[in-house]
Amino acid sequence: MANNMRYFIGNWKMFGVPKSINILNKINTFTKFNKRFNKNYKIIITPPFTLIESFAKRFKKKNILIGSQNCYHKDSFGSNTGSVSPFMLKKIGASYVIIGHSDNRAEGDTAKMLKNKVIGSLNNNLKIVFCIGENKKEKEKKLTYKVLKSQLTKVLEKKFNYNNIIIAYEPIWSIGTGKIPKSEDLKKISKFIKNILKGIFKTKKPPKVLYGGSVDGSNIASFKSLKEIDGFLIGGASKSSKKFIDIIKNYYR
Ligand code: PEP
Repeated sequence: MANNMRYFIGNWKMFGVPKSINILNKINTFTKFNKRFNKNYKIIITPPFTLIESFAKRFKKKNILIGSQNCYHKDSFGSNTGSVSPFMLKKIGASYVIIGHSDNRAEGDTAKMLKNKVIGSLNNNLKIVFCIGENKKEKEKKLTYKVLKSQLTKVLEKKFNYNNIIIAYEPIWSIGTGKIPKSEDLKKISKFIKNILKGIFKTKKPPKVLYGGSVDGSNIASFKSLKEIDGFLIGGASKSSKKFIDIIKNYYR
């Protein structure tokens, strides 16, 4: 994998029906005509559970990987109505799983549950996109660094295979609001996250750190100079092939 590899991960949230595969068909066509592909960037789309299997089948040998937005915190079969385990996700072709998204933390995911999700996913050879981020109040109280350190150290452990872990820094105040952090803040925060990761995993080459929160085709250029940011987790703008492609095009322009 090239060192300057950038990730563009689309989080569809509760969006998508079978015919939404057309969005991916268009993104796939774009990748075929783009010579930078494979060398410089990786596209991962996380549709809802209902579409993972059909999308993963369709794009098996293509330039788009399919992931899940979440998984259950128990791995083996159990009496857990409505739940989907990492084992089940792997079996239907998911290769990534988002864990710890602020939506799910707000719905009750605790650090213990997140740790179990990470363990279950790693055991099933899924790659993890682990989300962290402070809320508006915590930012105003200057608690950002404390919150991020706690979110990382409560869940991640040295024994985990960090080659299969990516971190997505998603300040909650920026998700879906059109607000993005100042470049100098984002630079400092991503360096801080990487230093914490170096400490946890005892390595000089820590996991990649992505940014997520209101990324779109018009503000993506402002992230170009931030070498510490290894890619983006994109919500709203990933539901349109044009908006998603514009982000990639404008990043490399
Ligand atoms: C998200 O929900 O992960 C996200 C980044 O959303 P948006 O891009 O819409 O802010």
